[in-house]
Amino acid sequence: MARLYGGIEGGGTKFMCAVGSGPEDIRAEGRFPTTTPEETMQQVVAFFKQAEQVHGRLDSIGFASFGPLDPRPGSVTFGHILSTPKPGWSNADVLGMVAADFDIPVAFDTDVNGAALGEWRWGAARGLDTFIYLTIGTGIGGGVMANGELVHGLLHPEMGHVLLPRNPEVDPYEGFCLFHKNCFEGLAAGPAIENRWGQRAETLPPDHPAWELEAHYIALALSGYICVLSPQRIILGGGVSSQQQLLPMVHQKVLEILNGYIQSPLILNHIDEYIVPVALEGKAGILGAFVMAEQAL
Ligand code: ADP
Ligand code: ZN
Repeated sequence: MARLYGGIEGGGTKFMCAVGSGPEDIRAEGRFPTTTPEETMQQVVAFFKQAEQVHGRLDSIGFASFGPLDPRPGSVTFGHILSTPKPGWSNADVLGMVAADFDIPVAFDTDVNGAALGEWRWGAARGLDTFIYLTIGTGIGGGVMANGELVHGLLHPEMGHVLLPRNPEVDPYEGFCLFHKNCFEGLAAGPAIENRWGQRAETLPPDHPAWELEAHYIALALSGYICVLSPQRIILGGGVSSQQQLLPMVHQKVLEILNGYIQSPLILNHIDEYIVPVALEGKAGILGAFVMAEQAL
């Protein structure tokens, strides 16, 4: 019989849950605002308990969460959110709050590793073994698969927090990251655009100079990732990336920055197939959580 999975995509503003096994088989969906850890996780558990009444027992659950978090099984803080500016969530044992109510495997990883897995199975990274999924939204984060394995390493990558050079004559805005100011996230996530230009990113017209500067910062970061990881593709998601005019500018600027050094025809001649938008739109995370669930069995 087909397996049945629970998927959780835990975000800083909302939690999405689903029951099913893939894009063509989503049997139930729930969405809850991110309030306190206790209240939010109770709603997640209640959603799955109710779904089990209707659809039958879940085989396993995948939980892709906002971070920073501890994804290392065996660590004393495995499944916990680590230190976060989000009130009430530092050190919250979010995995424990779900797993305690089910006697099935519950896999746990970053939201962006989850989305990377979704794109790998059903979306823009099919057939690849080394790629990056990057989201540019309220924050910036990246999930990485290298040689067929999601990268965790010491904890997990923090691709949004690489420092980027800022020219104060071109960009007087210092950046909003509490830790670094002018890291990629501090300079280029949605709140940076809003702070710099005084209006929300989605209200800026496509020909606004904001997008040229945004493309510059994105291209700087991506060029660094390309040199470090040699990804076979980079997938861009998140609200900011949905601006259609951005991607061609990013392509052009990455080519300028790399300056012919990386001698791959994919980069030199087909960069539009190399740095690409998400294929699964808003569904990559929740579908990736199904894949995490499947891999936990
Ligand atoms: P989140 O990161 O919270 O999961 P999003 O990826 O939608 O959610 O990111 C929200 C951020 O992206 C906000 O700063 C918002 O201003 C910006 N944003 C959302 N939609 C768009 C859009 N269509 N164009 C540009 N910026 C957007
Ligand atoms: Zn930072």
